[in-house]
Amino acid sequence: MKVPKILILGAGYGGLMTAKGLQKHLRPGEAEVTLVNQNSYHYITTKLHEPAAGTSHHDHARLSISSVIHPHRVNFIQDQVTSIDTEAKKVTLAEHKEPLTYDYLVIGLGSAPETFGIKGLLENAFFIRSIDSVRMIREHMEYMFSQYAAEKKDELITIVVGGAGFTGIEYVGELVDRMPELCREYDIPLEKVRLVNIEAAPSVLPGFDPELVEYATTYLKSKGVEFHINTPIAECTPEGVILKGGEEIKASTVVWTGGVRGNKLVEDAGIETMRGRVKVDGQLRAPGHENIFIIGDSSLVFPSENERPYPPTAQIATQQGQFLGKNLVNLLRGSQMETFAYHQKGVFASLGRKEAIGILGKNSKMFGFKASFIKRITELRWLYLLGGISLVLRKGKF
Ligand code: FAD
Ligand code: NAD
Repeated sequence: MKVPKILILGAGYGGLMTAKGLQKHLRPGEAEVTLVNQNSYHYITTKLHEPAAGTSHHDHARLSISSVIHPHRVNFIQDQVTSIDTEAKKVTLAEHKEPLTYDYLVIGLGSAPETFGIKGLLENAFFIRSIDSVRMIREHMEYMFSQYAAEKKDELITIVVGGAGFTGIEYVGELVDRMPELCREYDIPLEKVRLVNIEAAPSVLPGFDPELVEYATTYLKSKGVEFHINTPIAECTPEGVILKGGEEIKASTVVWTGGVRGNKLVEDAGIETMRGRVKVDGQLRAPGHENIFIIGDSSLVFPSENERPYPPTAQIATQQGQFLGKNLVNLLRGSQMETFAYHQKGVFASLGRKEAIGILGKNSKMFGFKASFIKRITELRWLYLLGGISLVLRKGKF
């Protein structure tokens, strides 16, 4: 009898959790499971703002896939997906000569930066999206600081963060922690450094609890962060950014945290998308494709018909992966498939190492060290889900 092939693209929160679920629930030989990822490691996206600022080494934000996937249960291929052919049920990779075939496809390829067509962003700004990209930000920033001793140009020690959503605010929080050490290293007076966070909406963290937003901005301002609110960035140049009103802010380091869209490979595959994301059905299937499941940042899940979709987070991607790991087994065994329901456990944003804001459950507001502690617990939980207590002890950092 032909063994069904399940192909999982991307070893992020969603893809890795699906693979772990199948590894656990499938009987040996019940299906052939293959996981493809462009790196040999999984990066812990929720920690990438730390190495981007240099407050922790990038190795703390990644772990090898072979340490969490059983090679006899899941076949891992390190390669880059270049295209998906949904008609022929084939996936092409950059290095592998033969395309991979599948019976069931799980797409968990994450997101790409949303630049809204803003001129010069792709060419001149940095993005917090992978180990490679955050390593570049850190090294570039340090190189600019090192040049300041000779050139004394203010823009060398000016950092612009474009977008004050969760990524922007968490990154600015890390920069605040990093600056005293960096300034000591390069003999720069701390007060000379400019950290500028620019937000198009009338408030930072648009839509989030106003009291917690106030706490975050008051704290970050007290550490010297300049906020420009209600001020869209209109252009990014090699010299800095130009705001909608025409004002220019000169900065040698511009980091864009202005939002994300789904991975382009999904829309290129001819699957119906909205800003690159696919409105999936209750079983996380793409419309019109019974055998294609989309999870994580490339999927769109709506609480109900008239509400806005859930924002793309590691939390929902993880739950989708856990759900799909079990539901695919139901499908293979001819059992009834269940319907996905998201349970948001809380929302937290770090403001550096010892400060954070957040809401636990539906309405328990927290800030300061207590919130920071809970945020760290959520990060340890991810390690626990992947590799149990031994991985927490090996990779966990409080
Ligand atoms: P990802 O985790 O992005 O994984 C996608 C995987 O696919 C990666 O391994 C990538 O290498 C691989 N891939 C991509 N393209 C290809 C290709 N062509 N070929 C092969 N492999 C490919 N969410 C929270 O819930 N809580 C938080 O605290 C939080 N903090 C965050 C902090 C930062 C700085 C950022 C940037 C995001 C944060 N998020 C947080 C959001 C969260 O990280 C994402 O929603 C989550 O990573 C999405 O998971 P995913 O599985 O869809 O994709
Ligand atoms: P986002 O879409 O949440 O925020 C982007 C921000 O950039 C918005 O506030 C937007 O108004 C602003 N912006 C857009 N265009 C602009 C312009 N031209 N000029 C200035 N500002 C502009 O994106 P994000 O912060 O990258 O987050 C992406 C997803 O990841 C979200 O769903 C978020 O919830 C999630 N995330 C969660 C956490 C956490 O839970 N701690 C941390 C990071 C990201």
